[in-house]
Amino acid sequence: MEQLKIGDITITWLSGGVTHLDGGAMFGVVPKPLWSKKYPCNDHNQIELRTDPLLVQTEGKNILIESGIGVNKLPDKQRRNFGVTEESSIEQALGQLGLTTDDVHYVLMTHMHFDHACGLTKWEGNELVPTFKNASIVTSQIEWDEMRNPNIRSRNTYWKENWEAIIDQVVPFEKERELTSDVKMIHTGGHSDGHSIVLIESNGETAIHLADLLPTHAHQNVLWVMAYDDYPMMSIFQKQKWIGYGLENNAWFTFYHDAFYRALKWNKEGEIMESIERET
Ligand SMILES: [Zn+2]
Repeated sequence: MEQLKIGDITITWLSGGVTHLDGGAMFGVVPKPLWSKKYPCNDHNQIELRTDPLLVQTEGKNILIESGIGVNKLPDKQRRNFGVTEESSIEQALGQLGLTTDDVHYVLMTHMHFDHACGLTKWEGNELVPTFKNASIVTSQIEWDEMRNPNIRSRNTYWKENWEAIIDQVVPFEKERELTSDVKMIHTGGHSDGHSIVLIESNGETAIHLADLLPTHAHQNVLWVMAYDDYPMMSIFQKQKWIGYGLENNAWFTFYHDAFYRALKWNKEGEIMESIERET
């Protein structure tokens, strides 16, 4: 399992499964001859996108960012359409660290789209129950409200299977929420109205989890935003702001979806200076 140290904090990537989504949708208005040079696609024009949660360990807390694709949460048709060829093995991954799902204190949900939220609940017989039963699940108030009352578009990704069982665990926040002295969630909007990012700062080192504002390293250009984004101009403004902040502070950028990099650092010319590659 790949790990990254940020000051006193350890970040570990867990196995949360994989999807293969349409490359055109993932790069929005960017023509294929451009994006396909930066991220490969298969014969069906799909690109490989991991759904691997980040475990952040600091101040005695186990904090998960995102929850993975889950186990048996998608009907066959959706599994095919979204190219899910591997499901979550979070319990095994936590086990390798001597932890169980009961040891997770917080699950930080940057947003509640199915590819982030399916892992929040699991089947026990015919019933869906919380996967992380002792955890507080932190997401923005806007995201939580929209998940429970989706609109005609967002109802395709906000599923009751992913929220009904966890309703008592959700702790919504308005603009920002500090989890520990070095881990903070900040609402951005953009990809979804309630989308948030996670800022990690310890002993002079910084990591920024931009979630679906920066789903892969190939989305570095601030104008390269997804067709899935509900508010693309907000994504662009927020990418400018936070990629700029990251470059000023020599930050690591971390990924949930990238099939090649777990995290990387760019210089101001946009070149990769340091990286953690995914071990395959
Ligand atoms: Zn996503």
